[in-house]
Amino acid sequence: MTFADLGLGEDLLRAVEDAGYTVPTGIQEAAIPYVLMGRDILACAQTGTGKTASFTLPMIDILAAGRARARMPRTLILEPTRELAAQVAENFETYGKYHKLSKALVIGGVSMDEQSHIIDRGVDVLIATPGRLIDHFDRGGLILNDVKILVIDEADRMLDMGFIPDVERIVSLLPKIRQTLLLSATMPKEIKRLADKFLLNPKEISVSPPASAAVNIVQNLITIRTGRGGEAIAKAKRDTLRKLMAQEDVKNALIFCNRKRDVDILAKSLKTHGFNTAALHGDMAQSVRTETMESFKNDEISLLVCSDVAARGLDISGLSHVFLFDVPTHPEDYVHRIGRTGRAGMTGRAFTLATKEDDKFLASIERMMGTKIPRFDISEAAKTTDAPVAAKDAVVPDTETAPTESTKKPAQRASKPRRGRGKTAEEPVIEAVQDAPKEQVKAERAKPAKKPVEATSDDSPIIGLGDHMPAFLLRDPKVTAKSAKKPRATAKKQKTA
Ligand code: AMP
Repeated sequence: MTFADLGLGEDLLRAVEDAGYTVPTGIQEAAIPYVLMGRDILACAQTGTGKTASFTLPMIDILAAGRARARMPRTLILEPTRELAAQVAENFETYGKYHKLSKALVIGGVSMDEQSHIIDRGVDVLIATPGRLIDHFDRGGLILNDVKILVIDEADRMLDMGFIPDVERIVSLLPKIRQTLLLSATMPKEIKRLADKFLLNPKEISVSPPASAAVNIVQNLITIRTGRGGEAIAKAKRDTLRKLMAQEDVKNALIFCNRKRDVDILAKSLKTHGFNTAALHGDMAQSVRTETMESFKNDEISLLVCSDVAARGLDISGLSHVFLFDVPTHPEDYVHRIGRTGRAGMTGRAFTLATKEDDKFLASIERMMGTKIPRFDISEAAKTTDAPVAAKDAVVPDTETAPTESTKKPAQRASKPRRGRGKTAEEPVIEAVQDAPKEQVKAERAKPAKKPVEATSDDSPIIGLGDHMPAFLLRDPKVTAKSAKKPRATAKKQKTA
């Protein structure tokens, strides 16, 4: 099957070829012909399957005929986070390069005036987070009567973030006769309910079993055993994380925390220890979030400590590691977090730090995946690497120390010039990370510095840059399979959009 077989126009085929894609992925093969036919779609697909192109490509084709009227977008794409919305907008740039389509990115955290200006001129595609879209509508700057295609992307994430009432309101403002595409990584009951309400005789597509982790991610679990008390545990985890980074060839990594506050604390701690680190979470100004993401994607920042804002859908090529500083409380988030690595056919490594308190969350993750996360013995691993580690076993001391120049590890490239550092990265170091015992300083000094190496020994070209087609993208879609996932309680609304 080729892209030409899917019925896409010449200009799109050229753009796809320029992007380096030769073969459609499973979801593209299954969805594109039906979208072109005007059918509604209910797709159960995770990020990394090529799902974005499965709706952007046919939309560009459909939009090629016709023109937008002032303030009346012709199509609407709803995304749960600003980062995802920006990523979809980039996809329209890439695939729409030979078309003259206008688009507006309507997300929170940035000036409304500029967005209003673009909407006023008329746009073919409006890519929005729900909150900001409603703001524009309520101010009277947006008319939704002309929307012919609606895409609700990452619907389960919308649910988690408390956006469903906003989504329902937006849909009530759209024409009844329209084409609707709903995509979700998982299909909890609440999303099925929405699908029944919003979609008409949809083509159901499922491209991978829900909530299964990619096969090319090596997963590891480290159990931290330490004294009682939140701060003691946090310190032990920070210590373990640094030991891990001494052992692992970390080129770049996302480090997930459950709470925004902990994101800031950990980022500051790592920075103190000379790691080239920034923080990313929903309470940061949008301009800082965007700049930080850019710096991370451009390799100017090696470690990004983040909340789940960054967990879903972000496409960062060649990410060598993901560290879960906290075990997520929703099992699906585990899969989404680790899924940021091992993308585009490369091998990735994921480490989860767990404590006794996480037992029940771990159990539900392992139940959901139907497999146990392999236990990783940090002390055994240390014996087999060239980086000696002070710890005797996984029980780590409640103390930390900053490294000297000679002890710096691959990701500790603090001296590298950086653009776009987050505000938090420049704030003074928290006191809790400054108490360093002399013995440990000695131990840290003894460690040899390692050169940064690529995440994988596989030198084959990566997706988007050449002709390599990873096997996991070629999996056959199970066209009618439905997901069977337990619904999860709607979380409190997060202020990310
Ligand atoms: P997504 O699931 O939309 O986040 O896409 C995951 C990655 O796959 C992105 O980096 C896309 O650029 C890439 N991709 C999408 N379609 C194809 C294709 N047909 N062949 C190779 N790579 C693709």
